[in-house]
Amino acid sequence: MDIKSKVIENYEVLHQLPELGFMEQRTAAFLASGLRQAGYQVADQIGGTGVIGRLHGPQAGPVVAVRADMDALAHTVEGRETAIHSCGHDANSAMVLTMAEAIAAKGLSKGVLKIIFQPAEETLQGARRLIEAGAIEDVDILIGIHLRPIEEARLGQATPALYHGASAIIEAEINGVAAHGARPHLGVNVIDAAAAVVHAVNAIHVNPVVPASVKVTKLHAGGPALNAIPDRAELALDLRAQHNQVMADLIAKAGGAVVTASAAVGATAVTRIKGLVPAAEYDTVLIHTAGEAITEILSPAGLLANINTPGGEDFHFYKQSKPILKTCYIGLGGDVMPGLHHPAMRFNTEALGYGTCILLKLIDKLLI
Ligand SMILES: [Zn+2]
Ligand SMILES: [Zn+2]
Repeated sequence: MDIKSKVIENYEVLHQLPELGFMEQRTAAFLASGLRQAGYQVADQIGGTGVIGRLHGPQAGPVVAVRADMDALAHTVEGRETAIHSCGHDANSAMVLTMAEAIAAKGLSKGVLKIIFQPAEETLQGARRLIEAGAIEDVDILIGIHLRPIEEARLGQATPALYHGASAIIEAEINGVAAHGARPHLGVNVIDAAAAVVHAVNAIHVNPVVPASVKVTKLHAGGPALNAIPDRAELALDLRAQHNQVMADLIAKAGGAVVTASAAVGATAVTRIKGLVPAAEYDTVLIHTAGEAITEILSPAGLLANINTPGGEDFHFYKQSKPILKTCYIGLGGDVMPGLHHPAMRFNTEALGYGTCILLKLIDKLLI
């Protein structure tokens, strides 16, 4: 069977098995069985429902891993909650499985090809669980691939470097001193502190060359007694930056703004960083090689420049946990409409053949 027919067949099976993060049992069983039949050494139930396959070449060489995510999203359709592959992880897994099968059929000439099917990308937990399980300890090169919305890439186009941004949440608790509304001088009003914090956060500036933002997304203070000075407030900030260094700068400045603005009115504040996802950091040589693979499959007109996208991806925890890892991440066009995470998300399945062939070419260049 040719690559295009095989990847559509694999996709159609996976598309019928939408499962939420860490519940990808049937998806994992199908992928593990495909890898085993192709001749891979397979370990499953890694970090929950993860599947890892290894194929060895006859000579020493790099360990090249290709990672695809497996989970679907929960949507409410006609009043019923249902899992749907609205981010296209069924497509990503189908392309990686089909590439893995085709490589096994012809064999490697050196090194190791490692296939990583990762659970729970949408909840940003899966990569960390695989890292804890040692999934990338022996890996030198790690490659990712994802379908992109039509605004970023059309059918017949792909970028070798999809740059996701960093994101983080800071939760803050401000404590003041309660008092009677008639005697405000005996208390410390946390609403005064919170208002000062909002102004201080909105006055934060970082390098304008790098897209970044910080804003207050939650403010809760005061109780049912409208004639009392409130002594406890809760705030949350949402932070975004396209570079990890700028995110570090934002986190330091935002934390400082919360604490010092609260102190300006006599309140105290504690902050907690929650949900920090790093930005993409790729290897330029690997991006170049992936660009060559894209050009050979899609022609020079199909090769897109690097794309900056504001969304996050837990793929970048791998690089964060192992800085010498060389990574790149292919963003594949497929005329995805109306958008990723939309319950009616659809795309042109011709993209599956293109994505599989790009991965095949890239592995050819690295291990054959
Ligand atoms: Zn998604
Ligand atoms: Zn996704």
